Amino acid sequence: MTGLLGVDLLELTPHISLLKLMNATRTNIYVVREDDGDTLVDPGPVGTAPIILALDRRCEIRLSRILLTHAHPAHAGSTARVVRGTGVRTWVHPDDAPFLDGRQAPLLPRGRRGQLMAVLGRVVELCPPVFRLQHYEPGVAVGDLLPIPTPGHTPGHVCLYHAKDRALFSGDALVTDSGLPSLPPDSLSEDPERARAALGPLYDLPFEHLLPGHGPPLVDDPRARQLPAR
Ligand SMILES: [Zn+2]
Repeated sequence: MTGLLGVDLLELTPHISLLKLMNATRTNIYVVREDDGDTLVDPGPVGTAPIILALDRRCEIRLSRILLTHAHPAHAGSTARVVRGTGVRTWVHPDDAPFLDGRQAPLLPRGRRGQLMAVLGRVVELCPPVFRLQHYEPGVAVGDLLPIPTPGHTPGHVCLYHAKDRALFSGDALVTDSGLPSLPPDSLSEDPERARAALGPLYDLPFEHLLPGHGPPLVDDPRARQLPAR
């Protein structure tokens, strides 16, 4: 549907929609409908916060929590402002938490993209510290989403599995810019070898839909399961 703000919520599966919100890093932002409200998976870069807050105020979404796949500013940059505006809590893997809670400077992608971001803005403004940060616990779902550690792109990267809809949020562990699920360029990841090895648990996971952080979601599309060769 197109809401009052001209932002589309594109329904992908019975409980999951893509928030079609233009943003500088072309990050996919997802809304998961749950019994107690809506979960936002990766709020996106810092500029998305005003729109997300307006959608919440107008009850087009009813934000109950934020779940992050990882701490890169393209995915987590607007979290602090959304949290301040709504009071919801945010979950992240403990190994990525220091880049979000102010203990360490924000984590930029390696390589030229990170250098460019550093030039464009003061780094701390790309990802201001988040209050009330919660940590994923191994094997424990948050709402309907089960975190699956996939470290390498960042130290604490996770995928999130939605069993009801058989959907996998893959963050930057797998992107689909090329049409097929693939690892992001090595130059963007902290430890590309570790990122490749971390895909192991995904091969046996019974997901049907792949919802990446970048590139088109693969819904009812057999390419969703065409993972990179082991
Ligand atoms: Zn990333």
